[in-house]
Amino acid sequence: MASALHSIHHAHWYRQVQPITTAPGSLVQRSGCTVVNFASNDYLGLAGDPRLREAAIAALYTWGSGSTGSRLLSGHRPIHTELEQALADWKQTEAALVFSSGYLANLGTIAALVGPRDLIMADQYNHASLKNGARLSGATVITYRHRDSEDLHTQLQQQRQRHRRCLILTDSVFSMDGDLCPLPELLDLATEFDSMVLVDEAHGTGVLGATGAGGVEHLGCSGAPMIQVGTLSKALGSLGGYVAGSAVLIDYLRNRASSWIYTTGLSPADTAAALAALRIAQSEPERRARLWENVTHLQRCLQKYQSQGLDPRQILPSDSAILCLQFPNPVTVLQVSQRLLAEGIWAPAIRPPTVPTSRIRISVMTTHSPDQIEQLAFALATCP
Ligand SMILES: *Cc1c(COP(=O)(O)O)cnc(C)c1O
Repeated sequence: MASALHSIHHAHWYRQVQPITTAPGSLVQRSGCTVVNFASNDYLGLAGDPRLREAAIAALYTWGSGSTGSRLLSGHRPIHTELEQALADWKQTEAALVFSSGYLANLGTIAALVGPRDLIMADQYNHASLKNGARLSGATVITYRHRDSEDLHTQLQQQRQRHRRCLILTDSVFSMDGDLCPLPELLDLATEFDSMVLVDEAHGTGVLGATGAGGVEHLGCSGAPMIQVGTLSKALGSLGGYVAGSAVLIDYLRNRASSWIYTTGLSPADTAAALAALRIAQSEPERRARLWENVTHLQRCLQKYQSQGLDPRQILPSDSAILCLQFPNPVTVLQVSQRLLAEGIWAPAIRPPTVPTSRIRISVMTTHSPDQIEQLAFALATCP
C-alpha cells in the first residue's frame, strides 16, 4: 500500500479531502478561504434551501433517523412510495424505485438485468458506477467509441448473435465531459438488435428538458422503452438514487437487485428532502432558466477570450451545465487549479485515472451571479 501510494504521488495522481466549512452555495469557505464554487453538483441551488431542511427535519421528527432495515423488511415508509410515485410521474414512466445512492442503483440494476451469458455495450466514457456494474454482472463487456453510434452498430453486428440478452449502457450527460449521448440513435439500435438501453441521468435530472425531467426529455425520448437511472444527490440536493421504467422492471428489481434488497432503506430525512426538491424543480422552472442563462453567459465569455488568446481547442464540447478545459498533463492542470484558487475561484482539476486527459471541470449553478461567471472566465483566460 505504501509503495502504491508512492507511485500515485509520483504520477501526480494523489488526492485528498478538503473540508467545506459553510453551507452549500455559490460562495463557500474551503480550508479557511472564501471561494466561488464551481465544483458542486448542486445545479439548482437546492442543497441549502430552507424548504429541503424543513422537510428533512419534519421527516426526522415523524419517522426517526434511520429506516432500520431493508425496504423488504422493516425499512419501508409511506414517504418512499410518495417519492417513487413523484419520480415516475416526472419521468413519464410507469414506476420508479429509490436506492441508497445512484452508484448502488447502477450496480444493482445492471447486475440484475444481465449475467455471464449476456452482452453489455458501453460508451467509453461512462461513469465508474456503470463500468463497475458491468463488471459485477459477469456479462461480456464491449466498449464503443464515445458517442459513436456507428461504432456501436458495427460492434452489435459482430457480437449480438453470440449472446442471450444485450444491454446498452450510457450516461445521458457525460459527467466528466458535459456532452450528451446520441439517445435516439441508441434506442433505434436497441430495437434493431433486440437490446435494452440503460441511461444514467445523474447530471441531466433537474437540469435538462422542458420540465427538468432530464436528458431523455430534452432529446425527445420520453415514453420510449428504456431504463432510466439517476441520483437524488445532484440537482435534487439530497442523497440517494433511483431507477425509473416499466412496472415490470421495477417489480423485477425489487426481487432481484441485491444492492436494493440487502441494504437499509433510504433514511426518512433524505427521502423527504429529495421529494421537496423534486416539487421545487417542477414548480419553479425559473431556476432552470436561470441556470441556462448562466451556462450561456459563461460560454459567451469564453468565446470572447478566444480572440484574446484562450485556445479554443482546450474547451471540450458541452451541452450541459458541465464545462471542461483540457490541459496537457496533471502537473499543469494542478497548477492552473491552484492559481484559480489564489484568485478565489474553485474549479477542480480532474486527472487520470478518473479521466483520460487532465482537465479543469466547471459546474455552473443557478445561484452563480453574472459577476462570478465573468470572474471565472477572466481568470481562466489570463491564467499563465
Ligand atoms: C454522481 C454520479 C453517479 C452516482 O450517484 P450517487 O448518488 O452520488 O452515488 C452515477 N452516475 C453518474 C453519471 C454520476 O455522475
